[in-house]
Amino acid sequence: MSSSIVLTGFLASLLAGGATVLGALPILRIARPTEQQQNVLLGFAAGVMLAASFFSLIMPGIDKAEEMGASRMMASAIIVTAVLIGGAVLAQLNAIVPPLDELGLGPDGMAAARTRRVGLFVAAITLHNFPEGMAVGVSFGGGDLGAGAATAIGIGIQNIPEGLAVAGALASIGYSPRAAVLAALASGLVEPIAGLFGVTLVAWAQALLPWGLGFAAGAMIYIVASQIIPDTHARIAGGGRATTGLMIGLAAMIFLDTTLS
Ligand SMILES: [Zn+2]
Repeated sequence: MSSSIVLTGFLASLLAGGATVLGALPILRIARPTEQQQNVLLGFAAGVMLAASFFSLIMPGIDKAEEMGASRMMASAIIVTAVLIGGAVLAQLNAIVPPLDELGLGPDGMAAARTRRVGLFVAAITLHNFPEGMAVGVSFGGGDLGAGAATAIGIGIQNIPEGLAVAGALASIGYSPRAAVLAALASGLVEPIAGLFGVTLVAWAQALLPWGLGFAAGAMIYIVASQIIPDTHARIAGGGRATTGLMIGLAAMIFLDTTLS
């Protein structure tokens, strides 16, 4: 692998990951969201990540497995297995992770249960950036710069609303806007690390990619269904405008993932 391809793959995944912070910036303008605004933000974040699970993890995962020679049936079976493993692992993690405030990570004065739920959600979003960054690295590592650039742009674009998802979720449990934006940036910076892995160890990364994408989707869907949606309903009976937020997030992400990437 030539060093210029490795450098290009790394820089492209850095730019794609860095795009996460762009989406988080509007949070700086909402100093102290009301309970209703918090619910809309959290619902929006859930909608964004649900759509991302299907359009930027599950569907590309099936495509990657097929590109590597699997039949459609086999590719689908691999992703389904990975999705179920992802959900099962998160269910186990959910059972063993202590409340974040016990670890000294939570904002003061927030319910430990709520902090923990949102913490798991942010962890799942960060985790899903790993196979995404790997996908950028692998597509450069294949030697086709055009394909690499297209993957990096597609992933960079869907990272923008994801940045708002991370920052909005953290703002909803009392993190300062600045801390929420920095956390969004940190979640995106997983991508260049994974990108470097993808571009240098293409064969390994390629074989792992369908599993990683499916796993991340399962983890995300599990957290949204078991933690985030119930949390919005616990804050305000019936969820208030959380479902409206979810539908807007879902629609925005479906549009971005199917038109711009
Ligand atoms: Zn994503």
